[in-house]
Amino acid sequence: MAKTKTTFFCQNCGAQHAKWQGQCNACKEWNTLVEEVIDTKPEKTWKPASSAAPKRISKPQRINDIKIGKEIRIPTSNQEFNRVLGGGIVPGSITLLGGEPGVGKSTLLLQLSLSFSQKVLYVSGEESQQQIKMRAERIQNEESNCYILSETKTQLIFTQIEALEPEILIIDSIQTLHTDYVESSPGSVSQIRECTAELIKYAKETNVPIILIGHINKEGSIAGPKVLEHMVDTVLQFEGDKNYAYRILRAHKNRFGSTHELGIYEMQAGGLVEVSNPSDLLISKTDTHLSGTAIAATLEGMRPMMIEIQALVSSAVYGTPQRSATGYNLKRLNMVLAVLEKRAGFRLGAKDVFLNITGGISIDDPAIDLAVVAAILSSSEDVSISKDICFAAEVGLAGEIRPVTRVEQRVMEAEKLGFASILISKQSKLPRSDYKINVIRVAKIEDVVDTLF
Ligand SMILES: [Zn+2]
Repeated sequence: MAKTKTTFFCQNCGAQHAKWQGQCNACKEWNTLVEEVIDTKPEKTWKPASSAAPKRISKPQRINDIKIGKEIRIPTSNQEFNRVLGGGIVPGSITLLGGEPGVGKSTLLLQLSLSFSQKVLYVSGEESQQQIKMRAERIQNEESNCYILSETKTQLIFTQIEALEPEILIIDSIQTLHTDYVESSPGSVSQIRECTAELIKYAKETNVPIILIGHINKEGSIAGPKVLEHMVDTVLQFEGDKNYAYRILRAHKNRFGSTHELGIYEMQAGGLVEVSNPSDLLISKTDTHLSGTAIAATLEGMRPMMIEIQALVSSAVYGTPQRSATGYNLKRLNMVLAVLEKRAGFRLGAKDVFLNITGGISIDDPAIDLAVVAAILSSSEDVSISKDICFAAEVGLAGEIRPVTRVEQRVMEAEKLGFASILISKQSKLPRSDYKINVIRVAKIEDVVDTLF
């Protein structure tokens, strides 16, 4: 009889501990260690049949002799997906698609699977073949080379894979898989780790790319181990708010490309539709001739986005002027008004000033200061600002325009969204100078006034 070995895994970060303890050594979380059985049978995991010998044999090569060929990628029909991956799927790569339940991960991957000309195997541990067929019919009715398998045991999945020989493999989701060689329940750290290891072995030996779906927990990380993120080549995150139709696809880690690209989709009845002009969704479509609005290039976490600032400046009817800010710090608004009064000579002391960030969101980013200034001046002077211009800079007490963090990301986002110009601080450093967008550098409030009015 095989002896069973157990070990303690942190359910938060996946760290392994020889014995139970209250706090995880690696991530310092409390009460996250769970005992899991790990079997140590030597003969296991994916084994290629004799006919399907490994297609890629690696041997040492002198670095000078290594030739860099053109990287082969499998392009998808989905431009946003290609962009985020860095041009398409790399053969033999493992991609993890994370996101909250219900955000549309399965819809996105099913849509992709149906569109490939290559033979795709879509393995679902979440839904039956009939359920997936019904969903596929809502998306698309054309002929497709996609096979559906409802199975959760990796050994049985590999048996089917050997028979079918798919060119692309999709797993929905990694948390539902289990392997015979580990006794703990599906979704536990050791199961996820072992199943992923088997899949990686298969991908590296056959050069078949795999996309895994992984559910994320409330804290926003991939449920189960962080280890999973280290094991795969690419980690994609699919985000969205249930109140809005738009979804954002972002790379957290990409061994084959940059992590700065965003893909934006709109969820419609027939599935996800690529959004080529996201500012339509994020910025309200108002009359371009209204004064008092300005657009700021902000960052929400890692994601750059454009927000609209609205200001209303009017003569105070009652003795004490009112100042109110929604979504922006009121103290900061008072500071900005004092700077405008003292350093730029705008008489705002006797005016009511109302400030609002549209969409009901609250922004803590100092980089929206310049847009706030622009919106206030626009309302005060009753001159509208073109919707082609956006702003990303902080305003200092001396009336100077200060640089902000990750300004390049903001410039790139503004460029991607089709803005004509962006105003940034004169001191901001940009790595290159060949942007399609017109980058206007300003040093003080007077420069902003000269540029806009
Ligand atoms: Zn931990």
